[in-house]
Amino acid sequence: MRVGIIGGGQLGMMLAEALKKYAAYVIALDPNPLCSCKYVCDEIIVSEYNDLANLKKLADRVDVITYEFENVNAKALIYLNENYNLPQGIRPLFDSQNRIREKENAIKNGLSPVEFYKILNEDDLLKGISEIGYPCVYKTTTLGYDGHGQVVLRSDKDLPLVSKYLGGEGILEKYLKYDYEASVILVRDNKEIVAFPPSYNIHKDGILDLTVAGFLDDLISEKLINKSKAFMNSCNYYGILAIEYFVKDGEIYFNEMAPRPHNSGHYTIEGCNISQYEELARFLLKLPLIEPKLVSKTVMKNVLGEDLENKCPFGFWHDYYKKESRPKRKMGHITFTNTSLDDYNQKYKKYFI
Ligand code: ADP
Ligand code: MG
Repeated sequence: MRVGIIGGGQLGMMLAEALKKYAAYVIALDPNPLCSCKYVCDEIIVSEYNDLANLKKLADRVDVITYEFENVNAKALIYLNENYNLPQGIRPLFDSQNRIREKENAIKNGLSPVEFYKILNEDDLLKGISEIGYPCVYKTTTLGYDGHGQVVLRSDKDLPLVSKYLGGEGILEKYLKYDYEASVILVRDNKEIVAFPPSYNIHKDGILDLTVAGFLDDLISEKLINKSKAFMNSCNYYGILAIEYFVKDGEIYFNEMAPRPHNSGHYTIEGCNISQYEELARFLLKLPLIEPKLVSKTVMKNVLGEDLENKCPFGFWHDYYKKESRPKRKMGHITFTNTSLDDYNQKYKKYFI
């Protein structure tokens, strides 16, 4: 089978690695000729993501299309869906591309986000703050990632920080003092939905720092899995879906979702009997899904540009082959198996800033 991936970043690269286990021929489309996928895929089509002629060129050469990147434009996606084999369809990507649409869709299908308001101008902002109170967080509704396009507001003094965003559409959310963040990754085919063991996620400056698997208690894990499966079923989504949650006092709050492999699922490569990438590969190649199981307690550490100086000699290192290292840029990750959060803090934390 020939598989086309829109986007050539690290998520596409690890998907291509999994597809290669099944002898698939993989073509990725990315504007950067030296993207991570270059080192694993059979071919790269160098193109902007929304160039319809090049997307068509990709689609014409493969049997099945997927994406590793969320901001494929709606027009291009509709065109691909109508004319080619895009087994995830357009719905999950469309629902995830706008934070307000995403949260309204979550409510409609049985999940609960924290309190939020749509913000178009200063009046909306002040009204929202009077309803929600401080602390709260303003986010642009589109194109946000790794904490970009977000401002945490703790008092009136922080209001000017939002002014550069007003005029565009935004969302104001209650800033939840959660107990922890967790995520669930699911894959659904025509027969079943499988879920990976939920992970405990620790963020630093809005970017995922650590994923800890085998940490959450059974009751919360079960609740996260059951709610997520019911949501995916109710939405009628197929393929892969990652859902981020906040957990507080045993309650779970929907934060956001992504219908692609997820950073918090890197741990599954060594930590589970099957990885999120291989499960998605099986979905794309129409092979039966495999029930994911945790093999051992596992910690995944994201390695950003600033961490690269002190390379850790332990764990499983995944290099993303990025040519340029910048602070806060994801350059690779390291996975420590048979490792609890306490073990990580004692033995490995010292290798990173
Ligand atoms: P993105 O991952 O697209 O940048 P998120 O909405 O997931 O956007 O925000 C990034 C991180 O910022 C979250 O993982 C969480 O750590 C923090 N955060 C975002 N929204 C809230 C909130 N309402 N309450 C508390 N923390 C939040
Ligand atoms: Mg997030």
